[in-house]
Amino acid sequence: MKVFNNLPLKNFSRFRIGGPARQIILAENRDELLSVVEPPDLVFGEGTNVLFPDEGLDKRVIFFRGGSFHLDGRWVVAEAGVNLQEVVEKSLDHGLAGLENLAGIPGTLGGAIYGNAGAFGSQIGDLVREVEVWKEGEIVRLKNPWFGYRDSVFKREGGVILRAWLKLRKGTGREREVARERLKLREIKHPSPEVPCAGSFFKNILLPDGEKIPAGKLLEEVGAKGMKIGGAGVFPGHANFIINLGNARAEDVLRLASILKRRVRERFGIELEEEVIIVRST
Ligand SMILES: Cc1cc2nc3c(=O)[nH]c(=O)nc-3n(C[C@H](O)[C@H](O)[C@H](O)COP(=O)(O)OP(=O)(O)OC[C@H]3O[C@@H](n4cnc5c(N)ncnc54)[C@H](O)[C@@H]3O)c2cc1C
Repeated sequence: MKVFNNLPLKNFSRFRIGGPARQIILAENRDELLSVVEPPDLVFGEGTNVLFPDEGLDKRVIFFRGGSFHLDGRWVVAEAGVNLQEVVEKSLDHGLAGLENLAGIPGTLGGAIYGNAGAFGSQIGDLVREVEVWKEGEIVRLKNPWFGYRDSVFKREGGVILRAWLKLRKGTGREREVARERLKLREIKHPSPEVPCAGSFFKNILLPDGEKIPAGKLLEEVGAKGMKIGGAGVFPGHANFIINLGNARAEDVLRLASILKRRVRERFGIELEEEVIIVRST
């Protein structure tokens, strides 16, 4: 376990934005996390889906990154701090199906479960059968927890995700090829790994019949691509990615996001909702 006082949160965020936190604790496995005596104020994983405030946080912030996992037949048993892609890779090595569409999603398993991360019609929640959570000082196991579109019982009701049990399926032999195709598409459409961002900024619009309107399409139609406010800009290759062009402040990102939302509201009467987790200082 590593402890840092007054270190900028930008060092722990893929967006490279955020002022200092009173204390940052880096827990590299479940035992280290549990050795923190009081339940933590805030827990993050790899910081790939968050926007931290410029003023920083007068709080103790935990990053749970690392831990162990194993496969047992079709089951994955994993600590929440493990990198999701390590789990995807291992499942492919074992000829299992279920995670191939999630190839290339950055971050930890815990972060993925919290936000029900997904792509290409799959979402992690479809595979999660049980989750161990640390909540109000107790460690409990939740069977078949609730998930919605980029939503989960953990997002709604809190708790630190410690471990998870995922049930995969027997593969057809095509999963590795599918994963490769997904990675190739990401390379073409998304900002490259060295570009600071937090993934899709807004959620897609979910229609009552289950169809989705991509937020990127609406944003493109209102001329979002290439727009800039301060150090924040819309990625020219994909209108739903806000990127840090150098020295962006959270304030720049939020101002840009609010202009984008207003344009979409005025043109289509649709209210975009942030997918990125906006962390407030108060
Ligand atoms: C280039 C790029 C592409 C992306 N593509 C996709 C995509 O295709 N699909 C998709 O869904 N997402 C995508 N994302 C977003 C992001 O990768 C996912 O949301 C990821 O699952 C976040 O994991 P993380 O560990 O980084 O979480 P963090 O960003 O660290 O945290 C996100 C949220 O999860 C909570 N959290 C994290 N760990 C825990 C825990 N152990 N217990 C309780 N709460 C926890 C945090 O409190 C926070 O609210 C992309 C991001 C980038 C930068």
